[in-house]
Amino acid sequence: MAAIGVAIDEPSLLTISVVVMIVAPILLISIYCHLPGPSFGDALRQLCAPRIKWASIPLVPATFVAAAIWGCGAPSGSVPVTTDTHNHAKAVQPVAPKLQAPAALHWRLGAIDPRFNLTTAEVREAVTRATNVWNQAGCRQLFRNDDSDGFPISFVYDERQAKMNSDKAAKQNIAAYKQKLADSRLKLQAADEELQSAKDHLEHEDRDHAGRVDQYNDRVNIVNAAGGATEELARSLDEEKSDLAAEKASLDTEAEKANQLLESRNELADEHNQLVQAYNAVVTAYNANLGQDNEELGVCERVDGRAKQIEVFAFKDMDDLERTLAHELGHAIGLQHVKGDGSIMSAVRRAKDPTTLELTDADKSELRRALPKL
Ligand SMILES: [Zn+2]
Repeated sequence: MAAIGVAIDEPSLLTISVVVMIVAPILLISIYCHLPGPSFGDALRQLCAPRIKWASIPLVPATFVAAAIWGCGAPSGSVPVTTDTHNHAKAVQPVAPKLQAPAALHWRLGAIDPRFNLTTAEVREAVTRATNVWNQAGCRQLFRNDDSDGFPISFVYDERQAKMNSDKAAKQNIAAYKQKLADSRLKLQAADEELQSAKDHLEHEDRDHAGRVDQYNDRVNIVNAAGGATEELARSLDEEKSDLAAEKASLDTEAEKANQLLESRNELADEHNQLVQAYNAVVTAYNANLGQDNEELGVCERVDGRAKQIEVFAFKDMDDLERTLAHELGHAIGLQHVKGDGSIMSAVRRAKDPTTLELTDADKSELRRALPKL
């Protein structure tokens, strides 16, 4: 057995006609018949009194009771009745109560400062996306675009957007520095490898050369100890000596090249260190500015509980703009700030906030609180 509600209809036109045409005349006649005094009443009383007088007496209160019932209105709510689900009689559909749908808040585009570099179409799309967040979450149209009679949404350029632009430029600068640092690091690495290779080669050649010089000197010492060299041996030793001198000159040239490589490498290292310092300075300045991110990026003015206008002052990109618009539109329908981090209705904007238009539980709960008042 299931209980369902069925509405009782209001009195039909036929019922009302019956009351007016039958009961009302009887009531009037019965009242008239009870009136004292002469005239037409006497004649009528004589005619109808025997038949109607007594019979009509109970009609008087009955008619008043009926009138009172209709005056209060027939029951318009639903009353529970039961029906057997095994019975194949047609189920009676519950009738939804007649609710007056609240009017949506009308908005229109106001002035857009050209320094924002925004087209009307871009702004209209951003506002529409922001309004859809609340329309969908509220399960009804809370906002409607009306260019003739809506509260204006305007874009006012001031130092906030100027700062946002310089932040953006600083961010691009940081990215450029990162790329330069990466390039410089690669160059330095290549120079280090080249220098190391030259040093290794030079050390190896130096060792070989020193070994050959030692051998030469040993031979000269032996020859001298034996009383001197023959002319032929002396010529051979001289040739060997000049070969060793040429080898030494070549090694000196190689050492000179290695020193030049070292100098270039050190210059690269200096440039790299200067880049690192410049990069750190730019990042420090950027981070110092980040601390001031809590500035109001938009405002919603309400008068007597109704949105009068929304002004947007700054945004980083279109995602950021849509979140700012969604926040101010939330205020437009009476939402307050919420505490949840990353919430659209949070009073504080943080760099780590999501960039999407997703409502948090705190946002949804604030909307539920405000919805019945809309
Ligand atoms: Zn706010």
